[in-house]
Amino acid sequence: MRHLIDCIVVGAGLAGATIAEQLADKYSKNVLVIESRFNVGGHCYDKLDKSGIRLHMYGPHLFHTDNSKVWNYLSHFTDWEMYEHRALVAIHGQKVPVPFNFVSLEALFPRALADRIESKLLDIFGFDRKINILELRNKHDEDLELLANFIYKNVFEQYSLKQWGFKPEQMDADVVGRIPVVLNHDSRYFQDRYQAVPREGYTQMITNMLSNKRIKVMLGTNFMDIAHLQEGKIYILGQEFRGSVYYTGKVDELAGFVFGNLPYRSLKLQFERINLEYFQEVAQVNYPNQYDFTRITEFKHIQPSESKDTIILKEYPLEHVHGENDPFYPVFNKESRERYEKYAELLHQYKQIILVGRLAEYKYYDMDDVVARALVAVEQAMQG
Ligand SMILES: Cc1cc2nc3c(=O)[nH]c(=O)nc-3n(C[C@H](O)[C@H](O)[C@H](O)COP(=O)(O)OP(=O)(O)OC[C@H]3O[C@@H](n4cnc5c(N)ncnc54)[C@H](O)[C@@H]3O)c2cc1C
Repeated sequence: MRHLIDCIVVGAGLAGATIAEQLADKYSKNVLVIESRFNVGGHCYDKLDKSGIRLHMYGPHLFHTDNSKVWNYLSHFTDWEMYEHRALVAIHGQKVPVPFNFVSLEALFPRALADRIESKLLDIFGFDRKINILELRNKHDEDLELLANFIYKNVFEQYSLKQWGFKPEQMDADVVGRIPVVLNHDSRYFQDRYQAVPREGYTQMITNMLSNKRIKVMLGTNFMDIAHLQEGKIYILGQEFRGSVYYTGKVDELAGFVFGNLPYRSLKLQFERINLEYFQEVAQVNYPNQYDFTRITEFKHIQPSESKDTIILKEYPLEHVHGENDPFYPVFNKESRERYEKYAELLHQYKQIILVGRLAEYKYYDMDDVVARALVAVEQAMQG
């Protein structure tokens, strides 16, 4: 095995595909990619339904980045269809842009009050700034507190309760910080320089990344079923493997859950075919205050299709249970971060193992960040 395979990559998601591609193409390594599912793509997995609508099977994936290196790298494997994401939130019978911005403010507040609040926001924070809800609350100004409380009550509190099972202030500050209030009229969800989706889909892009002849992909195989870790050594099917193992799966699973599970939120994903040309105004509408689902995505808005029907996706958050559902979002708090550190330290004795990706590093990575991280991980490993 040692002579045939130089490196093993566990997981054929975006992290694993980037690593395998770089090892094979740049460093001429023979790479075995081991993937437990029967398809490549990981969380970015998408496919066309029978009426030609491209569905993102683990929730909507919108590629956006300011990182030219990542954009240029991925552009070797796909053409792009430009797409700027827009999302609305349903409040008091109206649908207004989210993140909350001046358009949302003017739609929901009386004109004179909206004007006064906008002037104060611009004076204090400046045009185009993104501030978070907690910052706004800390200003001790009556109008800004009114706005803060309104957004908190109508957008964040119920959404967080549904999404995480916690109030926002019980989460790490960076989770709340990720939900900004934007001080302009730009209702695009992202402001990045590059915003697009792969023309033939993420699965095809990732398949192209894995097409190098030096890469072998083994689907339907859980690494844990064939690997055994003992005293700093890795055994595959009973034989010691001395090459590098780039691991992109769950780190607690790799270490046999010795310190307990790392908590995640999962989602029940319900796709529905609707006999209408379009169901809603934009690709995404959030429902913090009604229903058990958090949001509805309509895929035809992301990549247009000739289909007379449309397909929507409702996301119902729930707790992640290993073996029963998929881990979607890490639940960050002091305890879970400390538990992760214990796992990372334990696995440190296995010098061959390199942890990369959202599950192995217990991080929320956007797609561009995970590609950037994978590129650096390979470079560092090959130099070190
Ligand atoms: C609902 C949702 C929406 C998102 N939307 C966006 C978005 O709009 N824009 C954006 O930039 N990012 C988005 N992301 C983030 C994006 O999904 C991640 O950046 C990306 O999937 C990370 O890739 P990865 O390779 O680290 O992990 P994954 O894609 O999860 O890949 C890991 C792979 O490893 C396999 N695996 C795990 N354990 C084993 C094992 N023991 N043996 C074999 N195989 C194993 C898994 O089956 C999986 O295929 C979203 C994430 C979520 C949860």
